[in-house]
Amino acid sequence: MKKIQAEYIWIDGHKPTAKLRSKTRIIPGPVETIDQIPIWGFDGSSTMQAVGPKSDCMLNPVKYIADPIRKEDNILVLCEVMNSDGSVHISNTRSYLSEVFDKHKSHEPWFGIEQEFTFFRGRSPLGWPDGGYPAPQGPFYCGVGADEVFGRDIVELHLKRCLNAGLHVSGINAEVMPGQWEFQIGPLGPLDVADEMWLARWLLYRTGEEFKVSATLHPKPVLGDWNGAGAHTNFSTVEMRNEGGLQIVIDACEKLRDRHNDHIKVYGAHNEERLTGLHETCSIHEFRYGISDRSASVRIPMATANEGKGYLEDRRPAANMDPYKVCAILIDTVCGD
Ligand code: ADP
Ligand code: MN
Ligand code: MN
Ligand code: MN
Repeated sequence: MKKIQAEYIWIDGHKPTAKLRSKTRIIPGPVETIDQIPIWGFDGSSTMQAVGPKSDCMLNPVKYIADPIRKEDNILVLCEVMNSDGSVHISNTRSYLSEVFDKHKSHEPWFGIEQEFTFFRGRSPLGWPDGGYPAPQGPFYCGVGADEVFGRDIVELHLKRCLNAGLHVSGINAEVMPGQWEFQIGPLGPLDVADEMWLARWLLYRTGEEFKVSATLHPKPVLGDWNGAGAHTNFSTVEMRNEGGLQIVIDACEKLRDRHNDHIKVYGAHNEERLTGLHETCSIHEFRYGISDRSASVRIPMATANEGKGYLEDRRPAANMDPYKVCAILIDTVCGD
C-alpha cells in the first residue's frame, strides 16, 4: 500500500500567546476522508499542555488539506488537543467556538480576517538597516520596487501554497511599516475561517524557514512611530447581509460597546502597545464606531453604508489573536440577547 506523509499540526499551551506545533507521521494513503487519519498523541510536558502527572495529550484530526510543500498525496492535518481520556483539553479553544456556533447557527455568521504580520531577519525587520531605521513611513503601503517592499518573494510563495492547498485567501498587500504584510482569509463560517487562518499561519512560518526569515504576529514589533500589526475581523450575519441590514450592523455596534472590555481580554496579548489612538487605531480605553472611519474601534465599510446592508469591521483584534476566541465572542455578543 502507498504511504503518505501527514503533518499533524496543533496549537500549544504557550502563554500569553499560543504557538503552533507539528510533527510528521507516515500513514497509508491516499486519504479520502478525515476518519482515515488516525488519532495520535504527543508529550504535553514539552508544549505547556501537561496537567498533573499524566503528560500524554491526544491529537484529534479535525481538518486536512493538500500539503502544498511536500505535494503528491501528502497532507497537512489540523488537530484539536484532547486529554488522554478524550475530554477537551483546556488549551482547546476550537471546541468552545464550535459550541457557540451551534447555538447561533441560524444567524449564518461569516468572517473575513485580515492577518497582518512582520518579517524579521535576525533582530531587525526585513529590509531594515542593521540596528537602524529605514525612511519614515509613507511610501511602503501597497508599494512596489526593491526600495519600497521587502520579502515579496516569500509572500508570493506563501500565497501560491495557500491557494494550492485550497485555502480561501481573498488577497494580499504590503503594509504601512516596511517589512510588514497582510493576507486575508474569507468570508467563511467561523470554524472554517479560524481553521484556515491557523493553517495559513503555519504555512507562513514554514515558508519563511526556506528564506531564513521569521514572521512575527507581535502587535507592536517596533515601538515608536511605526504601525502595529492587527487582525481586523470582518463580520456579518444573514440579517446584516439582507435588506435593512445596516440597522442590524448599527445594533451590533451598540452591543459591542457594552462588552468592550470583555472583547479586549481575548483580542491578543500586548494589544495595549498597538491600540494607542495613533497609527489608524482607536485607544484601547475607548469604543467608537463610524462609517469609513479607520480611527474607530469598529468601522462600517463605505459599501455597507451605501448599499444599506453588508458587514462590520472590528479593528481591535491584534495580529496575534486566536481566531477561535475572537469569532466566538463576536457571535456570542452580537447574536446573543
Ligand atoms: P480593508 O479595506 O480593511 O483593508 P480587506 O480587503 O483587507 O479590507 O478585507 C476585507 C475582508 O472582508 C475580506 O477578507 C473579505 O473576505 C471580508 N468580507 C467581505 N464581505 C464580508 C461579509 N459580508 N462578511 C464578513 N466578511 C466579509
Ligand atoms: Mn486589509
Ligand atoms: Mn491592513
Ligand atoms: Mn481592515
